[in-house]
Amino acid sequence: MDIIAFFDIDNTLIRSSRGHVEALLVCIAEVYGIDALIDVINHHGMTDQEIITRILEKYEIDQAAIKARLADCMACMVRKYAAIVKSEKIVIMPGVLNLLSKLEKHGILLGLVTGNLEPIARAKLKKIGIDHFFKIGGFGSDHIRRSSLITIALERAEALFDGDSQRRVFHFGDAPQDMQAGREAGVVPIGVATGVFTAQQLTSAGAAKVFSDLRGANDIIQYINSMKI
Ligand SMILES: [Mg+2]
Repeated sequence: MDIIAFFDIDNTLIRSSRGHVEALLVCIAEVYGIDALIDVINHHGMTDQEIITRILEKYEIDQAAIKARLADCMACMVRKYAAIVKSEKIVIMPGVLNLLSKLEKHGILLGLVTGNLEPIARAKLKKIGIDHFFKIGGFGSDHIRRSSLITIALERAEALFDGDSQRRVFHFGDAPQDMQAGREAGVVPIGVATGVFTAQQLTSAGAAKVFSDLRGANDIIQYINSMKI
């Protein structure tokens, strides 16, 4: 197993309706007593823990109070989302199913690196039938910082499979934060311009390569195989 491909979820693998944000805001109200608006921050590319924390900072809740109830808030989100996902509209991005099947056939280990809490991430992907592709991951429930999620996912890969010092690791994502996190963690960030960010923004944030979407499975596999690290 010398190649690992990590994928961000939202706007990279799927697009979904507002269920996740809805769960987050309902739980901030329930746990912290704040009727918050999501738009007080630019949440794109943030981990769930980061979104909760940054929103509450905007409402001048102090750090100790935020931290004290963060686990409760995350547990609340998982509960709410389990109900919400039943009616949530989730759309798989173009080319994703074909790409994942081909990567798997090529023996590439697939993992998730997402700011979503793990049960929420898994629930979204189960709903559209692609959860089984991802054997490992680093999730928003593991850490507040995105680059740490990659490190955590790599540790899990090593624990499950023989560590190979020659392995090549790629991280696909739609946000500049995905690219920065990839660089910080020492893996190759690949931008996918299917979110709200342009190819130029992804390149500026450190993308080694940007694809306009994930439809070109053969080109993507060729690129991965051509990279010598
Ligand atoms: Mg994303």
